[in-house]
Amino acid sequence: METVPDVIVVGGGPCGSFAAFNLAKKSVNVTVFEEHAEIGVPSHCAGHLSIRGLKKLGMYPLPKDIVENVIYGVVFHSPCGESFSLRFPAPVTCSVNRVLFDKHLAKIAVNAGAHYFLRSKVESLAIESGRVCGVYVRQNGVTKKYAAKIVIDAEGVSSSLLRQAGLPTPVRSMIMTGVEAEVENVENVKRDMVEVFLGKEYAEGFFAWLIPQSNGCAKVGLASKTGNPQKLLQKLMLTHPVASEELCRGKITRLSFHPLSLGGPPSQTYSNGFLAVGDAASHIKPTTGGGVILGMNCAKIAADVAYMALKKGDTSSAFLNAYQKECDSMLGFDISVMQRLRKMLNTLNDRQVDKAIRFCKMINLDKSLQKVEEIDFQGKAILKLLRDPRMLAALSYFVRLYLFANI
Ligand SMILES: Cc1cc2nc3c(=O)[nH]c(=O)nc-3n(C[C@H](O)[C@H](O)[C@H](O)COP(=O)(O)OP(=O)(O)OC[C@H]3O[C@@H](n4cnc5c(N)ncnc54)[C@H](O)[C@@H]3O)c2cc1C
Repeated sequence: METVPDVIVVGGGPCGSFAAFNLAKKSVNVTVFEEHAEIGVPSHCAGHLSIRGLKKLGMYPLPKDIVENVIYGVVFHSPCGESFSLRFPAPVTCSVNRVLFDKHLAKIAVNAGAHYFLRSKVESLAIESGRVCGVYVRQNGVTKKYAAKIVIDAEGVSSSLLRQAGLPTPVRSMIMTGVEAEVENVENVKRDMVEVFLGKEYAEGFFAWLIPQSNGCAKVGLASKTGNPQKLLQKLMLTHPVASEELCRGKITRLSFHPLSLGGPPSQTYSNGFLAVGDAASHIKPTTGGGVILGMNCAKIAADVAYMALKKGDTSSAFLNAYQKECDSMLGFDISVMQRLRKMLNTLNDRQVDKAIRFCKMINLDKSLQKVEEIDFQGKAILKLLRDPRMLAALSYFVRLYLFANI
């Protein structure tokens, strides 16, 4: 007789696997369904992760082959080519190979006891009397029902299961298309600094990035509210005053497209027998689009709450509400600060961005920002810096630009 898993996880991305790992560790019977034939493939992500965030999750150091490079800071470039650098004395982030990173997480979940089914697309939720009680899965051309006490939705941005569960979905107007490319023949690039290119002409409502690899290649990408991402990427590589110096002879060896949901989590991410984690719940930083660390933190909370629910024999929405409460208390403040920051940045026109970058450089804002330890929970990080005179000057300058934007 087949055993009924306590928990089914939909999606073997980092958040699904991390939830599965944390459940399996507690001897919960957990099954992961992944639609693709291989974990981590196709990859859509730049894999730029904070080392502190990974350490806090117990995931750093990572096996050597996963880490492609370690990064000491960031150079911001304005549309006209003004630059502002922020360099830390030690590495703050790393660039990971997302395929290998996802495989690593799935492996530790399997080693802890989780079961994985590949080529298994969850088509829909099984719902009885208003309660999610399993999923319908397409495997080898046949659809089969699998029952479970709790379903964790880690399917990424699609929102299809959220809709079926009757939950609100992420704000559509804040979903952008991102493009991520691997580029060879990169020139004049600092090997240990990421670069951020600002400007509506190249990436309206977001930015473009360059993440150097230790082998002379780079990951280059952008997300934009408007325009064709591939054409915008070409434009960046050929015409941006700084990026073109580095990339005009670059050869794109891999290109992928994927949506990025920057509007913050919807108002409810749980229901009877159901929890949504990671991109499925828009656990993504509205400022930078980074979702791996926040999503994995929420996946850990989901696993803990699911474990408690199973122990108590109560998988009702009233009990699972604890998941939302804990996620809100961990990142609610940060998300709301980052949303405001994103809104403020989006209001500035390109000339104002030029001025802002010039101002940051002029007041040596890097000296203050170097005190920042936390780059994932940016609301708390900013709050900590509020008494710093340079930070105050920068904030009041930005607020003035924001207030007089487009006047
Ligand atoms: C261009 C781009 C660059 C990015 N760069 C970064 C970055 O540098 N750093 C960072 O932190 N974040 C980055 N992100 C965001 C990051 O990719 C996501 O936040 C992260 O992948 C979320 O993980 P997840 O497990 O929730 O979802 P995903 O990684 O999307 O995984 C979902 C999994 O579910 C599977 N699946 C989907 N539907 C089904 C189904 N019905 N049945 C079975 N399986 C299913 C998918 O195949 C996939 O394996 C980037 C995003 C984009 C678009």
